[in-house]
Amino acid sequence: MEEQNKFLESLKVNITTESEKSKKNSFVYHPEGRNVVIGGAWPYANSSLHLGHLAGLISGDVLARYHRQIGDNVIYVSGTDCHGTPITERAKKEGRQPSEIAEHYHAEFAKTFNDMNFSYDLYTKTKDEEHKKRVQDIFKKIYDNGYIYEKSDLQPYCEHCKKFVVDREVIFTCPACGAISKGDQCDCGYIPETKDLEDATCQECKEKTILRENKNLYLALSKLQPQIEEYVAQNQGKWRTGSRTETAKFLEDGLNDRAVTRDLSWGVDIPIEGYEDKKMYVWIDAVLGYITTTQRFCEQNGLNWEDFWKENGNNKIYMVHGKDNITFHTIILPALLLATGENYHLPDTMVATQYLNINSQKISKSKGNGITISQMIRNYNTDSLRYFLVNYGPERKDSDFSIEDYISVNNSEVTNKFGNLVNRTLGFKGLEAIPNGKMNEDIQAKIDETYEKASEAMEALEFRRAGKIIMELIEVANRYYDEQKPWVQKKEDLNRFNDTIYTCTNVIANLSNLLNPVMPEASEKLRDYLGIETPTWEQISATGGRKLENIKPLFTRYQTPALPKKVKKNVIQIGDESMDCELI
Ligand SMILES: [Zn+2]
Ligand SMILES: [Zn+2]
Repeated sequence: MEEQNKFLESLKVNITTESEKSKKNSFVYHPEGRNVVIGGAWPYANSSLHLGHLAGLISGDVLARYHRQIGDNVIYVSGTDCHGTPITERAKKEGRQPSEIAEHYHAEFAKTFNDMNFSYDLYTKTKDEEHKKRVQDIFKKIYDNGYIYEKSDLQPYCEHCKKFVVDREVIFTCPACGAISKGDQCDCGYIPETKDLEDATCQECKEKTILRENKNLYLALSKLQPQIEEYVAQNQGKWRTGSRTETAKFLEDGLNDRAVTRDLSWGVDIPIEGYEDKKMYVWIDAVLGYITTTQRFCEQNGLNWEDFWKENGNNKIYMVHGKDNITFHTIILPALLLATGENYHLPDTMVATQYLNINSQKISKSKGNGITISQMIRNYNTDSLRYFLVNYGPERKDSDFSIEDYISVNNSEVTNKFGNLVNRTLGFKGLEAIPNGKMNEDIQAKIDETYEKASEAMEALEFRRAGKIIMELIEVANRYYDEQKPWVQKKEDLNRFNDTIYTCTNVIANLSNLLNPVMPEASEKLRDYLGIETPTWEQISATGGRKLENIKPLFTRYQTPALPKKVKKNVIQIGDESMDCELI
């Protein structure tokens, strides 16, 4: 423990004391823009957020910022998922109320997202009465349409605890991979059916359960299969491969109707007579949160939520989540919306990310190797962390995170290339104002090309490629600077010096646009330096003659921390906070 604390202190501390976090302007509706909803997956309120969560969710903020910059009407929503058995389990263990646990983590999540500059338009939580009421309305509609129906079925019952055990309260052997898993879903993605739970064990008392008849409400996924297949066929071209293959697997096996009620005391009440003692299946209430939160945001801002969620030929809906949540977004949510019989625009773009491993190991609570985001924020720069997770994150396959790799990218790309270009241009010794120079035409063309190509990569959900394209512009500008030698030009040819600095300043002005989705804090500083009001997505020019004041380095180089002796190489453990990590 002491070793670990020392290790923490040994990490080069550079706490961002930025009080001026990127501020959001109030919502302005652009009639010519598309209506874009971006739904970030709802983190579950029973453990701290770690880097794996962040790697999965960062794409949402990148997309939200990008779409706002190109003039679309963006509503970016998410919230804390407060219901379900992991929270009740934990509350029981700690002798607290589930709502206390949920509130605790909700506050922590909201702060972490704010610290990481996530630009949610509304970040809410599923325990809010408003959310519950809206979810109940949708549920009732689906019931009235006959897509939610009553069925008695056999369910694991614990005679010792005298109750039906559901989801994670029951332990079963996964027929797909052979692992001992909790009954909501195996780590391999398999969701158990009744027959798999025949020989299950009660998590609480460890007694074998028996199967007993229980009455539940079911969502008629089998009846909706043809419509879901049609929806998938129309949209999967815009999905990443992971979403396509996972969804295809479920559809090929044939969709099974899914129980949407649970014998629990914590959750959303069932708005159907005879179900007063049950609650809604947590995933139903969580995925509908994208709609309930949009509705709430629209009411607060004088907008019509149907412009965003109902089909009008001008909308685009992104779902951003980790690969373990794919089918809840590609099957369950579309099924619920189809079952309402209303004209919903189904989520068309799936942005599923793969897993982030820490030092080549899967993040797991038992290994205690997950690094929480607050640990990283305390020690490192949030922009360069965002940059690393976007450009080296698990976009198409699992990726690895190590402090050493992060520091290396922070030092070589972020600080030496981007930071240095800014520093040696705007912070040129003796430079008091942006010179009135002539823009280099080749670089002007390169900037146009960068916007165009980066845009194309962003819309194809290839953020790594977009990052490379933008980094190439930085490299071109740095080479140009080196070739021009402004430190010589300053003495020998003031006009040419002015051209060089003006050209590089223009590159920097445009980087404040191009890098804003990934590095919002640095981009905002650049806008302050150069007097740029809001980020856009087209070539802009710096204002010659504008005074340059208080130019400071944007980034800091870090030293690689020495590993404490007792911690095995390859496993980074930082304090016992890291024990507080749940599987991604
Ligand atoms: Zn039991
Ligand atoms: Zn399994």
